[in-house]
Amino acid sequence: MLTQYNPYENAKAQLDKVAGILDLDNATQDLLREPMKEVHFTIPVKMDDGSTKIFKAFRIIHNDARGPAKGGIRFHPQETVDTVRALSMWMTWKCAVVNIPLGGGKGGVICDPHNLSLSEQERLCRGYVRRLHALLDPNKDVPAPDVMTNGQHMLWMLDEYEVINGGHYPGVITGKPVGIGGSLGRTEATGYGIIYVLKGMLSEMGLALADTTASLQGFGNVGEYAARMYTELGGRLIAVSSWSQKDNASYTIKRASGCDIQQLVSFKDRYGSINKEKAAEAGYEVLPGDQWISQDVDILIPAALENQITPDVLPKISPKVRIICEGANGPTTPDCDPIIKARGIELLPDFLCNAGGVTCSYFEQVQCNMNYFWSKDEVLQKLEYTMTEAFRAVYKLARGKQLCMRDAAYVIAVSRVAEAVKLRGWT
Ligand code: NAD
Repeated sequence: MLTQYNPYENAKAQLDKVAGILDLDNATQDLLREPMKEVHFTIPVKMDDGSTKIFKAFRIIHNDARGPAKGGIRFHPQETVDTVRALSMWMTWKCAVVNIPLGGGKGGVICDPHNLSLSEQERLCRGYVRRLHALLDPNKDVPAPDVMTNGQHMLWMLDEYEVINGGHYPGVITGKPVGIGGSLGRTEATGYGIIYVLKGMLSEMGLALADTTASLQGFGNVGEYAARMYTELGGRLIAVSSWSQKDNASYTIKRASGCDIQQLVSFKDRYGSINKEKAAEAGYEVLPGDQWISQDVDILIPAALENQITPDVLPKISPKVRIICEGANGPTTPDCDPIIKARGIELLPDFLCNAGGVTCSYFEQVQCNMNYFWSKDEVLQKLEYTMTEAFRAVYKLARGKQLCMRDAAYVIAVSRVAEAVKLRGWT
């Protein structure tokens, strides 16, 4: 995350490019370049040893013209306000590109949950809500899990909100555990959504998924479920890279005949780090972390962090690669797009590819509002339909107007948000 690339500058540059394609008026462009609202706050947490530690936190709403803001809360030691700003903007486009009636928001806390006990994490979650509760509301701003946060964190946050407000408000937060307001399929949704989009692309390219190979960066929630569905459909996942907290380094775990996902899951901790010693014992090669990108595969799936594919690393990408599926938010820097296009690689953009999570979060809100919960099959069927429809619209526009997939996705998303902004009379 700490590179010369600023994700917020990237996000604004992407918007400016699309504003040019759309001939967007200045006022609308200016409005969409900035978050509508930012809250920066501190959370004092009583630590287990009796000391008090102060954590810095953010909640940012980029735009809510199409509906209540929606977006995850990340726990990360290198979290920056500009990362949260960029991610909130990407949430606006993400909700718009899959055409769900929600706006874009994001939150973050500068912390490393690896170094916090469960009770310290609970106090941090409750502290986040105590500071922010007046701004959270099912009709205003609805958080969800993100990097290094999970259903348990969301439930502590929900509980704190409900204690403060004296009632049940299950629609105020999503990603809750199933049985306590969560939706079946939410855990799988982002990873599966990536593969639904990939399936659409492969079918347009006349390729069978079962004949393809892939390499993946990140084996957390997104990476694991993308890997599961990809391999269940017959794809061969050759390499997976993850971060080791213990060694403060990343590693790529490789097996040319294809990784056994269930086995790798048994080697990983709850933060998505694959234990390299166990992997080596089971016969996997252990390579440096950046090696995931130089594998001779058809598909690359960056599903860890932003700014992982830069012009510096592009030459390492094998000529065999046909598709990059952006599972993470902002994994490719904008200066790579023209080079990737010139190399004939199809890039499936982040805010389309990884919109499965927010789509299922939307389904969770709908189910909470009805107090009636769907079966997992029903959720996944609706998810596949929404993702496939979104892919088709983007693909059709891209081919019709000779745009790359990212620009086509932006054109659809930004024009939907701009229309809402104008119809509301904001610009
Ligand atoms: P996670 O915390 O569950 O997993 C992150 C994974 O990335 C872990 O396996 C970790 O070991 C790995 N990682 C971290 N740094 C790395 C590095 N330098 N090299 C290799 N691996 C590294 O997070 P997640 O929920 O899976 O999210 C991953 C990405 O997807 C993020 O960009 C997030 O914003 C985005 N995203 C998540 C969701 C969701 O529903 N969880 C939805 C949309 C987008």
